[in-house]
Amino acid sequence: MNVLEVDLHKLTVSDPFLGQYQQLVRDVVIPYQWAALNDRIAEAEPSHAIENFRIAAGLQDGEFYGMVFQDSDVAKWLEAVAWSLCQKPDAELEKTADEVIELVAAAQCEDGYLNTYFTVKAPDERWTNLAECHELYCAGHLIEAGVAFFQATGKRRLLEVVCRLADHIDSVFGLRENQLRGYPGHPEIELALMRLYEVTQQPRYMALANYFVEQRGTQPHFYDIEYEKRGKTSFWNTYGPAWMVMDKPYSQAHLPLAEQTTAVGHAVRFVYLMAGVAHLARLSKNEGKRQDCLRLWKNMVQRQLYITGGIGSQSSGEAFSSDYDLPNDTVYAESCASIGLMFFAKKMLENEHRGEYADVMERAFYNTVLAGMQLDGKRFFYVNPLEVVPGISGKAVTHRAVLPTRPQWYACACCPPNVARMVSSFGSYAYSENEDTFFIDLYAGGTVKTEKGITLTCETDFPHGGTAKYTIKGEAETTVAIRIPAWSEKSLLTVNGEAVDLNAVTKDGYAYITRAWKDGDTLALTM
Ligand code: ZN
Repeated sequence: MNVLEVDLHKLTVSDPFLGQYQQLVRDVVIPYQWAALNDRIAEAEPSHAIENFRIAAGLQDGEFYGMVFQDSDVAKWLEAVAWSLCQKPDAELEKTADEVIELVAAAQCEDGYLNTYFTVKAPDERWTNLAECHELYCAGHLIEAGVAFFQATGKRRLLEVVCRLADHIDSVFGLRENQLRGYPGHPEIELALMRLYEVTQQPRYMALANYFVEQRGTQPHFYDIEYEKRGKTSFWNTYGPAWMVMDKPYSQAHLPLAEQTTAVGHAVRFVYLMAGVAHLARLSKNEGKRQDCLRLWKNMVQRQLYITGGIGSQSSGEAFSSDYDLPNDTVYAESCASIGLMFFAKKMLENEHRGEYADVMERAFYNTVLAGMQLDGKRFFYVNPLEVVPGISGKAVTHRAVLPTRPQWYACACCPPNVARMVSSFGSYAYSENEDTFFIDLYAGGTVKTEKGITLTCETDFPHGGTAKYTIKGEAETTVAIRIPAWSEKSLLTVNGEAVDLNAVTKDGYAYITRAWKDGDTLALTM
């Protein structure tokens, strides 16, 4: 069955709670992050991300500065802008984004390669250290930005740039002679290529995603091969020499995916990888990969998930620990990991419409993703503690990562722009649709136009209260399925004020209401 993601142009989010966060992203976070990317915030750590592109494009002299994955901050910012433009057009912001896109295009090499670190600092070292250097990760974020910008504005400029990049990657990697047998140390390209495939319908992008997934963890191990080939040099020495190469479970590369039984390693890498695999499983109709997703999903949510929707309890390696090891005070639970968890959950939901996946999305969004951002939109948690110990948190060796207050822009700024893109695209997580059913997955005040010919307007006091009321406009005989959350001990569903027998209509966490909907009909859930 085809699952349609609901186009963000066909919905508005206007409820007081979510609307306020989206407005915050528009009015404060996006401009603030733009200033940060341009190093205009004196008290924040330098970013240099835009300048890196200017240098790579030959528009100015200078040296690359920042993390090896600094480009991804620009890509995530562009994606947040794209989703925000869907919600509220802003000519000036769109113009700024267009200029950034031109800058990104100018930094692209003749052959399609695009990465400012390697172009500026180490042009001879392209694709020599996939285990440690985030080259495919940055490419993935750029591809996501290109897809998002096209979906949001209809403009193809960045999409064309990232297609050239993806085509270049497709020429470098694979099983043909003279191709590299590699795959990324930090997954991300997989989910990005699947998004690119959905938009372009070019089978080579799905085939490339499939290649990266299937090559992962095979023997002889690619990390070791490239390590030998480059003379055993190492980029990061945080936990000893070449630890990222040696510690293969850290990047889920210890075994082929089909042989992995537990969620291990760096939590963000794990969920990014699995979001791509779940998307691939659905579109390639691959039952084996679907089973891989289910097995690893179950281990993660049943044994390694915080009550807040946080994952990855260890600060060492920002990683999963062992089953049931979920300390409150030495927690890690990175904001990005909960965002990636939402990606994975959404793709699982598209494979099989079960309320448990949406329950996890909701848990992660309201308790960790939103909490990652301060209410003024200017400070962010990277680590999300459940308990803070005065005088110890942020200070003692055991609690160093657990800061009691949110800091400003980080040198490693993965989380803030990730929160921004998730908040501004929230609407696409709230609904989904297939040939015969319109699904309400999360509760968001506002309006959504379905493909079935009816429009739903939702009023809700969620999350502070437990009611969501939908008023229908238009007429159609169709099915609307509304999620009945597992946490709701007692739920009441009414259609035009009359109670529905939930036992009779509920399957896998959704109540299915099929009827000839008429103008003015109401569907109301009390949780
Ligand atoms: Zn992060």
